[in-house]
Amino acid sequence: MTTAPATIQDGVVVLFEYTLSDDKGNIIETSDEVGVQAYLHGSGNVVAGLERQLAGHKTGDAFTVTVAPDEGYGFPDDSAPEPVLLTDLPAEIEEGMPIFAELEDGSDIELWIQSIDGEHAMLSQNHPLAGVTLTFDVEIKGLRAATESELTHRHAHGIDGTETHGDEAPDAPGENGVQNSVRNGILDVGDDTVH
Ligand SMILES: [Zn+2]
Repeated sequence: MTTAPATIQDGVVVLFEYTLSDDKGNIIETSDEVGVQAYLHGSGNVVAGLERQLAGHKTGDAFTVTVAPDEGYGFPDDSAPEPVLLTDLPAEIEEGMPIFAELEDGSDIELWIQSIDGEHAMLSQNHPLAGVTLTFDVEIKGLRAATESELTHRHAHGIDGTETHGDEAPDAPGENGVQNSVRNGILDVGDDTVH
């Protein structure tokens, strides 16, 4: 660990609090529920428009960032949600959760639980926030240099860099999916991560 970096740039772990609202002013989620969050800047751990507008900020800065869908969760396509039997899904699913499904060719696709009704869940290919302009109220709580391990994994290991997780392969560069503490929104969640 070296001296604390002065501003947000690639290779810096950013400690921050935030509230995410949609374009109607509804609060989608807030770090009040989970405490200060950490992400590794420059690794696609947060949506692109947020990461871009956080660059250069310093500890103590509090500000509002607006992210259009093209730098957020993209635009919804016109694919219809598909019903899937609850018995074919993990027991603890809830609306808004991502699920990874395997396609016939063996590749993975990320689907979202759009609704749960009776014996079925409706699975959508569209992120729940696709097409939504996002507003983040952000406060920077601290900055630190990333550890070697964090740089290798391309994500933060908790507030102080010592948090451990399973032995699965690290996230591919630019891929989201780092923290289970937040269901969706600012920090994309993979149900296969073990932070
Ligand atoms: Zn890791």
